[in-house]
Amino acid sequence: MSHSVSAFMEQVKAKNPAEPTFHQAVQEVAESILPIYDQHPEFSQARILERIVEPERVLMFRVPWVDDSGNVQVNRGYRIEMNSAIGPYKGGLRFHPSVTLGILKFLAFEQVFKNSLTTLPMGGGKGGSDFDPKGKSDNEVMAFCQAFMSELFRHIGPRTDVPAGDIGVGGREIGYLFGMYKKLRNEFSGVLTGKSPDWGGSLIRPEATGYGNVYFAQEMLATKGHEVKGRNALISGSGNVAQYCAEKVIQLGGKVITMSDSDGFIVDRDGINEEKLAWIMELKNEKRGRISEYTEKFGGEYGDRSNGKSEWYVDGCTLAFPCATQNEVDLNEAKAIVANGIIAVSEGANMPCTPEAFAHIQSNGLLYAPGKASNAGGVATSGLEMAQNAAFTYWTREEVDLKLHNIMKSIHSQCTTTCRKYGKEGDYVFGANVAGFLKVANSMLAQGVV
Ligand code: NDP
Repeated sequence: MSHSVSAFMEQVKAKNPAEPTFHQAVQEVAESILPIYDQHPEFSQARILERIVEPERVLMFRVPWVDDSGNVQVNRGYRIEMNSAIGPYKGGLRFHPSVTLGILKFLAFEQVFKNSLTTLPMGGGKGGSDFDPKGKSDNEVMAFCQAFMSELFRHIGPRTDVPAGDIGVGGREIGYLFGMYKKLRNEFSGVLTGKSPDWGGSLIRPEATGYGNVYFAQEMLATKGHEVKGRNALISGSGNVAQYCAEKVIQLGGKVITMSDSDGFIVDRDGINEEKLAWIMELKNEKRGRISEYTEKFGGEYGDRSNGKSEWYVDGCTLAFPCATQNEVDLNEAKAIVANGIIAVSEGANMPCTPEAFAHIQSNGLLYAPGKASNAGGVATSGLEMAQNAAFTYWTREEVDLKLHNIMKSIHSQCTTTCRKYGKEGDYVFGANVAGFLKVANSMLAQGVV
């Protein structure tokens, strides 16, 4: 095979047309991996890179359901079973109107390396639908989830493929999906993670991605003698990851200045404290309202995205945690981040920075943690949920939090050790890609051409 990234990417693009986010994710990994290929001729002989970009299986299915007015609705469901070299497929389900095959392939591809970094035995997968839970009644969400699971149940299982939540799939959706799986299989098993602790879920799973992101940032900051305490933070999003990222920043003595949703962002210079955050959690998780309502209650400013504004232009902060969605930070926003004196960017979302944005951030010497390392705490705690389910046991909050914290430290040290080994100190993108890749690639080699 050619060792040139551009030649490799031409093949990937020709084989996977019209999937730009998948191309973007593959290119970023290929740029890290191909330079070390000369030291590993066994990978190129076994065509590991060509095999790793090819999903082991793609499931695509019709999801018909009936809305509250009696109308038949039709959505499309997907599950990408990307790689099972180191364990059963594991990765979330996303329900959002922007979902396409290409987006889920990008997320499944990222998941393979992320899961490898967690130190737990989990392969990579991702799934979801173009269904939009926003504005739907609970009954409609249940009808959709039941229809979705009435096909997906054939393909998943606690030792085969274990989905979890992602954008648009929280505790409510996991409950409806689990109920339908249990009915169809007549089996109570750990087939989904993110369950309620009342029926098999792990404590700390809701908090895990956000907490883990801040634990990773702490490790990164410590390499420069810094800490979270006393620092102002920009956080985007106000969903699961953003909420618990904010909670951990506050617990560690930092001040959260911004949070957002897809319509706009709030700026509270006094800081979003625990009481204000509890209100945001209720607004988003129970009332399913808009972040703009915050300023009516607590003051501060609201910026509307339709005016070309975003949270990334807000000054006076030194930490940035993008926790909303892919490609939410572009080059101009990255320039503002650098110019405003941010010292560390730690990604809670998957691929939230465009390639130009992260290149600008990295080349200006900021600490930069790619999501596949810094947001791996969620799937790691899903792995801990699987372990508890398999052993018919429950661990305390403290036990799970300690394990999560140790996993995040281990991911950080895998990144830094790998960077040192290959002379790329400080390049967490390289460290995460290469450390994640090596374990999967060696496992694929050991298992032969399958
Ligand atoms: P949620 O659905 O709980 O929250 C998503 C948040 O992002 C909401 O505030 C949403 O706003 C906002 N958002 C969605 N799309 C856009 C957009 N196009 N522009 C601006 N804001 C947007 O999802 P999660 O918190 O679970 O996921 C957030 C990110 O974290 C995703 O990238 C996900 O893949 C990643 N992730 C999640 C994990 C988890 O455990 N949940 C694990 C690892 C990564 P609105 O309310 O308007 O839709």
